Amino acid sequence: MHPWISERTEAFDSSGIRRVFDLASDLKDPINLSIGQPDFDVPDSVKRAAIEAIETGKNAYSPTQGIAALRVQLAARLAETYPSHEDRDVFVCSGTSGGLVLTMLSMVNPGDEVIFMDPYFVMYPSLVRMCQGVPVPVDTYPDFRLNPDRIAEAITPKTKMILLNSPANPTGITADRESLEAVAQLAAEKGIALVSDEIYSTFFYDGEFHSPAEFNDQTIVIDGFSKSHAMTGWRVGYVHGPKEITSVMLKLQQYSFVCAPQPAQWGALEAMEVDLSHHVNDYRRKRDFVYEALAKDYEVSKPNGAFYLYPKAPIESGAAFAEHAISENLLLVPGNIFSERDSHFRISFAATDETLKRGVEALARLARS
Ligand code: PMP
Repeated sequence: MHPWISERTEAFDSSGIRRVFDLASDLKDPINLSIGQPDFDVPDSVKRAAIEAIETGKNAYSPTQGIAALRVQLAARLAETYPSHEDRDVFVCSGTSGGLVLTMLSMVNPGDEVIFMDPYFVMYPSLVRMCQGVPVPVDTYPDFRLNPDRIAEAITPKTKMILLNSPANPTGITADRESLEAVAQLAAEKGIALVSDEIYSTFFYDGEFHSPAEFNDQTIVIDGFSKSHAMTGWRVGYVHGPKEITSVMLKLQQYSFVCAPQPAQWGALEAMEVDLSHHVNDYRRKRDFVYEALAKDYEVSKPNGAFYLYPKAPIESGAAFAEHAISENLLLVPGNIFSERDSHFRISFAATDETLKRGVEALARLARS
């Protein structure tokens, strides 16, 4: 390692993903099921709002906490959802990732344990380690359901935080109301911080979305516009939670991200008016198509949300399978970047019907060969 590089950076290992991209770079017209963002474009009205913001000179820093108009809209929505949460405050951050970074930096001390479910979103263990905290992944194999008993077993006197993510990346699995309530109560009883990453809440295909914040008014929620409105490059997210905590996060934001890009915040304000139901219906249909095709040959849990499936590889190693899939011109993400186990792989169904059709055909061939 270069002598100027800090030890902290050893918390980040991106070699798994890089390997997939390296393998992929040689392929011509690959069947790409590895992408973690919607395949539709930003809604036109949102583009126009951002362009207008740029053209009318809304190009400076915004207040640290975000433009007032967007905060007012977000706060109104939260007041409707959580009428009894009097000290719930909201601020705009630089993507959900920015919100996660601020959450960890504000709350995790060296030695603090942070519980999250395995498989997990790639950033979680690294961000915990960046703060010298201790990642505590709780195994959810084979069905990836939220299991309050397993969480209770993982709690020690050093547990600082439980971090939930439903619908989940990389499994698409959603937590049911009862389990969320049980975990929310457990956190409240033990005085443990509860953080909920709700970036995929729009993509919910069966029944109704529930947040643990419904059952624990101290829950810190991180959400954003990246996935719902296909605005991953615009970097607008938001955090809501007890004011005493969000105010500390804001202090850190002031000295780091400063603010989310102002024109993108005006776009996000418009995005709140956009009806996304046709996209959700379309993704439900894609989910059904891919799940039904894959279930013939693979062990796979039916996802109720997000746009991912997480099947078990037909050979020992998910990483070896992802490499083997390249021979079919197929790009998937090996499960070992999301998990302590190397047995599964992630595919995204946020792709055109044509790509999905080619993808399931290739997967069928791979399973049978
Ligand atoms: N949380 C999860 C679970 C995600 O999958 C992602 C994006 N892949 C993020 C957070 C980060 O999203 P953003 O673009 O808002 O930073």
